[in-house]
Amino acid sequence: MLRRFFAYYQPYKGLFLLDFSCAIIAALLELAFPIAVNRVVDDLLPSGKWEWILWGCIGLLGIYAVSAALHYVVTYWGHMLGINIETDMRKKLFDHVQKLSFRFFDNNKTGHLVSRMTNDLMDIGEIAHHGPEDLFIAVMTLAGAFGIMLNINWQLAVLTFIIIPLMIYLSLYFSQKMSRAFKRMFADIADYNARVENNISGIRVVQAFSNEKHEIARFAENNIRFRLTKLLTYRIMAWNSSLSYILMKLVSLFVLVCGTWFVIQQKMSYGEFIAFVMLSNVFLGPIQKINSVIETYPKGIAGFKRYLELLETAPDVDDAPDARHVGHLKGDIRFSGVKFGYENKEKVLQDVHLTVRAGETVALVGPSGAGKTTLCSLLPRFYEVDEGSITIDGIDIRQMTLQSLRSHIGIVQQDVFLFDGTIRENIAYGKLGATDEEIWEAARRAQLEELILSQPEGLDTLIGERGVKLSGGQKQRLSIARMFLKNPPILILDEATSALDTETEAAIQQALAELSEGRTTLIIAHRLATIKNADRIVVVAGQGIAEQGNHEQLLAAEGAYSRLHRAQFGA
Ligand code: ADP
Ligand code: MG
Repeated sequence: MLRRFFAYYQPYKGLFLLDFSCAIIAALLELAFPIAVNRVVDDLLPSGKWEWILWGCIGLLGIYAVSAALHYVVTYWGHMLGINIETDMRKKLFDHVQKLSFRFFDNNKTGHLVSRMTNDLMDIGEIAHHGPEDLFIAVMTLAGAFGIMLNINWQLAVLTFIIIPLMIYLSLYFSQKMSRAFKRMFADIADYNARVENNISGIRVVQAFSNEKHEIARFAENNIRFRLTKLLTYRIMAWNSSLSYILMKLVSLFVLVCGTWFVIQQKMSYGEFIAFVMLSNVFLGPIQKINSVIETYPKGIAGFKRYLELLETAPDVDDAPDARHVGHLKGDIRFSGVKFGYENKEKVLQDVHLTVRAGETVALVGPSGAGKTTLCSLLPRFYEVDEGSITIDGIDIRQMTLQSLRSHIGIVQQDVFLFDGTIRENIAYGKLGATDEEIWEAARRAQLEELILSQPEGLDTLIGERGVKLSGGQKQRLSIARMFLKNPPILILDEATSALDTETEAAIQQALAELSEGRTTLIIAHRLATIKNADRIVVVAGQGIAEQGNHEQLLAAEGAYSRLHRAQFGA
């Protein structure tokens, strides 16, 4: 997994090297001060050469200036490296999620996905540069300090360094505990986000049912769980920090006691002793760094694992290797022996055979839950047929690229999804980059012109999240305007007017009739009155097509259709 992580450094090799080398030089320069103090106390002070000390200090000042510049580079460019990697990962994940299939989104919560794409990657950038940089600096500084300490007094150096493996062991021990805690924490945050997302997007239902208390209680549950997980994480961190603290102080005391003993025994000079004490402090820094890497590393890696999981989810529906772009289609549709079922349930459709000629308008009727919507969603390959095939103009839809297939199919549904933004943006979603003339033309044909003209902001009127500021009929007209712009040869109208009152429905029927002109149209409708103009009526019932024909033929057949008809219009 680390190899996969390091692959993300590839585009930033230069930045990485710059950051890395500056960090190393800065780390080594840290050792200059103890050495200088050693020289000053042991050589320069006794000789009383004040100017030399002064020159030495000016030299040190130069070194510090260089160090300061290096620190700037490391902090800024290092973080840039991290954020670049994080940005790349976000982009990759977002791109990937765009391609995932309907089935995936049926089974995953929006809030969980949002959480993965935002929160889970928060720490990976930090780890990306702090990880290697801090570890390397720490090792370099430790090695440098140890070298000098060995040179001063090897016995004391070795004794002091015995502590290091102990501290590293301690850190690793806590790191494992933290790793588990962080994984739980991310899962909790995802639940949290899912709960909030669900609540806010359904807030109108919550309030309509006066179920705020119920929602508050459910949220409190998540909140308490999150608090407990976080507390657990902090407890582990607290143990780690307190134990490391006492160990480090023990080192200082140890150096103080042993060092003075060596000085009294005249095995060490004053200057060496002071340098030793300082060096033992220099090496505490890197140990703390290693410690903090070990602390954040599990968090970054827990996020990275969740990232990989999502990134490796293959789309159920994807372009075949030999899929080709199809530029033009007339719209001759043929379902042959199509079988389909959702996740391990019984088949919704068994052996469907259906032919729709180009330009024909076919109405799909039948009881609710019979599979009409399902049948239509197989055509743009929102779901893949289990058996059988669907062709358009004789070409199997699996041999077309998804992009070209879907560009030929327009769908108007009962619940219209509009994006937060302006009327212009939402209409132009049917044809990105459409001109204002085209947008106005589409709006006129969808009978939306009046509404737009009545708004002070015109096309720039904001419609609110999911179009909450529009009425049902207006939303539907907007989605029809979109379709005029998209101008596909095949049109699916799935209960497009079912949610509307009869008057609005009648008005919109006109726009829909104009829209379906010259296109192959599948109309799903439960109000039989709305399908009078269909060339043919197909009854979907009992996992397939029960009967088909025109209105009179079907009434005469006295089958499912005539029963539906009687139910709606009486005998
Ligand atoms: P219709 O449009 O004729 O009312 P649908 O095609 O929407 O019926 O549904 C057919 C059956 O498939 C129903 O039993 C429904 O519960 C089921 N179904 C619809 N969509 C899904 C889905 N995304 N996942 C699982 N089952 C589904
Ligand atoms: Mg339906």
